Amino acid sequence: MAYDVIIVGAGSVGVPTAMALGELGIKPLVIDMHPSPGQGENKHAIGGIRATHSDPGKILTGRRSLEIFSTWQDRFGDDIEWLKGGYVFPVYRKKDEQLLKGLLPVQKEFGLNIDFIEPQSIQQLVPGINSKGLRGGTYSPEDGSISPLLAVNAFYQRALELGATFCFKEKINRILVKNKKISGVVTDKNTYHAPVVVDAAGPFSPELCKTVKVKIPVISDSHEGAITEPVQPFFQCMVVDMRPAPGSKNYYFYQNKHGQVVFCITPDPPIIGKDKRETSEFLPQVCTRMIQLLPRLKNLRVRRTWRGLYPMTPDGSPLVGWNRKVKGLLHATGMCGQGLMLAPGVAELVARMVAGETTASDGLILKEFSPHRKFKGQEALK
Ligand SMILES: Cc1cc2nc3c(=O)[nH]c(=O)nc-3n(C[C@H](O)[C@H](O)[C@H](O)COP(=O)(O)OP(=O)(O)OC[C@H]3O[C@@H](n4cnc5c(N)ncnc54)[C@H](O)[C@@H]3O)c2cc1C
Repeated sequence: MAYDVIIVGAGSVGVPTAMALGELGIKPLVIDMHPSPGQGENKHAIGGIRATHSDPGKILTGRRSLEIFSTWQDRFGDDIEWLKGGYVFPVYRKKDEQLLKGLLPVQKEFGLNIDFIEPQSIQQLVPGINSKGLRGGTYSPEDGSISPLLAVNAFYQRALELGATFCFKEKINRILVKNKKISGVVTDKNTYHAPVVVDAAGPFSPELCKTVKVKIPVISDSHEGAITEPVQPFFQCMVVDMRPAPGSKNYYFYQNKHGQVVFCITPDPPIIGKDKRETSEFLPQVCTRMIQLLPRLKNLRVRRTWRGLYPMTPDGSPLVGWNRKVKGLLHATGMCGQGLMLAPGVAELVARMVAGETTASDGLILKEFSPHRKFKGQEALK
């Protein structure tokens, strides 16, 4: 069976990429080992969507993604639980204040609506937040949240309408290469041919690319998330506490459209690997910190926890670009902890690359996301 493009993975990136290709008249084949869309890491995301990053490429990609998520229901009718609650980074340490204030010029230059606001304004946005030592914080009112599974399924329906084909419960065992050019993939059920393979395999990209002797710097690590029972809404924004504590870096939480508080934390040191079994350390660790920050959360009952993977790169920015060794292999992976919020923008970029229609601002993004870049430094808000 022959296609123009094969996408590996019907996840956060693969599904909107199929949709974006469809919008340009290209009908891809998408293959996933799971039985339906979003069953890899997509459904593990807590749903935070922001464009307020620190590097121009991520800001531009995030802005486009935000536009797609926030206008989806008006344009296509599906409720993806978009909630424009904004992001708040409350600050208690001088060095965090300096870091966040230092990012504002580039964030504003690239069109973001964000400012450093007074402690009183933070208290209005997050009623009951611990005021001791609160120095203020950044607020970006246009950011928000969605339901990852509702969004990926909405994109899936749209991709089907535009002519994409999806094969589920099918594992790709290897990529096929002939004379250093992509010729297709071999799954546990079939062989499919195409001149372009998009690597949207997330944490499994290294294994996939290894089948054509391509090494890519994606290392997965485990993160846990949780959701509470629903209660009357009392705050809407995503709250990101940047401070570290023993065993963890930042943590973040928001109250979704149903009134449930959804949260997760960044372990320190990272828990490298692909273990998705929940731990008994996570809830005591994150809840202690959340209650110190916002004591009124203390009576909430947690309904469910889960554990998923971040496909991490050395500098915290994605890997998007053509492979130099294997012609036709296009990487769209390494989304770290931001694959949901970047995916629709990345998808359109990938589609333009396949169609040979990239723009000047794509050039800037592609330089930042290049799989062949030197991995110096770290994105400040990764
Ligand atoms: C606790 C937690 C909270 C998070 N919160 C957020 C958040 O608030 N906002 C945000 O933006 N991000 C968040 N993330 C990160 C986000 O989930 C990931 O960055 C994103 O889902 C990665 O997208 P992806 O398309 O690269 O991978 P996936 O969504 O995992 O898609 C890859 C797909 O490829 C398939 N696949 C791989 N290899 C093969 C193969 N050989 N054959 C067939 N199929 C294959 C997999 O089955 C999978 O479905 C969070 C993650 C976790 C764990």
